[in-house]
Amino acid sequence: MKVARCLGVGFAAAVILLVSEPVSASHNVYLVTNPTWNPNGPTNGYLWGINVEWEINGRSNLVCSDYGPNYTDMPDAIRGVIGSWENVLPGTQFYQGCPGGRSATWFLRATVTPGWSCSYWGCVVVNWSYDPSRRAYYPGSTNIWLNDTFSFTYGGLRYLAGHELGHVFGLDEAYIEAGFACNPNRFSILDMGTLSGNTITGGCDAVSPTVPNDYTDTQVLHQLNPMTQVSSWEIPPGMMAVQWWDPTWADGGYKFYAYRWANSQWQYTSQTWLHTDYVGHAGVYNATIYVKGSQPSGWYRLCGYTWSGVNGYQHWTCAPYQWIS
Ligand SMILES: [Zn+2]
Repeated sequence: MKVARCLGVGFAAAVILLVSEPVSASHNVYLVTNPTWNPNGPTNGYLWGINVEWEINGRSNLVCSDYGPNYTDMPDAIRGVIGSWENVLPGTQFYQGCPGGRSATWFLRATVTPGWSCSYWGCVVVNWSYDPSRRAYYPGSTNIWLNDTFSFTYGGLRYLAGHELGHVFGLDEAYIEAGFACNPNRFSILDMGTLSGNTITGGCDAVSPTVPNDYTDTQVLHQLNPMTQVSSWEIPPGMMAVQWWDPTWADGGYKFYAYRWANSQWQYTSQTWLHTDYVGHAGVYNATIYVKGSQPSGWYRLCGYTWSGVNGYQHWTCAPYQWIS
């Protein structure tokens, strides 16, 4: 169990849009599921963390800073935690090079670059782009602001940069907002940081993404996941509805196959379709309707894959069978 405590009076390294962060006792794991940060919900909402370069184009992200034009101008603490986050989500890479017509993450300091628009220690400001294939806004370039009116130890700067990068990857705060306290129930770089005098010295838990919370949470957000809570029922005459919980935010659809019970086995009816109505519409129940047409009454069931244009077909899942009259 974690026994770390915050030192001194800390303030949140908060994600800032145009609204003040509300005081609440707990957070969601994901920004995309937090109504505060995704007020439009999953339809035309904000796909926090689902960067189009990573998920659609399969391209590297760029990273830039006001420390200088070269990647190596950034402090080693920041470069180190960038590497840590690249390991959390294999395939993501940050390369120096701005602007290059691609998504970029900028590290900007309050006293160096005009336009500081955060409170407290730092924040992430997202430039949203609309993705018609997912019918939602995704983070294009992101600005990570660091409040350098504080001083930092190596671990403190690594913590702050890594915490804000966690928001870029889509994770919500993990600390206890009331009093900006360390959360004894979460072990994450999204937990609170530690302050000594005017110096940010580290995180309540760690100065890097931690296992398992940050790793597993981030991977679940970005990968294809099997449909869950699958149910089915008959809609007389001759139709069956299937409903399931959609747990995949990243570029997904569902490919269905219809089967009929005959000769003591499930036989494929040659009926298949791709359900794409709710691509990018995760965190909700989806439904599809099967029409058996001129086939005989009997036991039917639908099975399907989670599908992504990037990751192909994965996770074969079957709904409960139903009698269709
Ligand atoms: Zn934060």
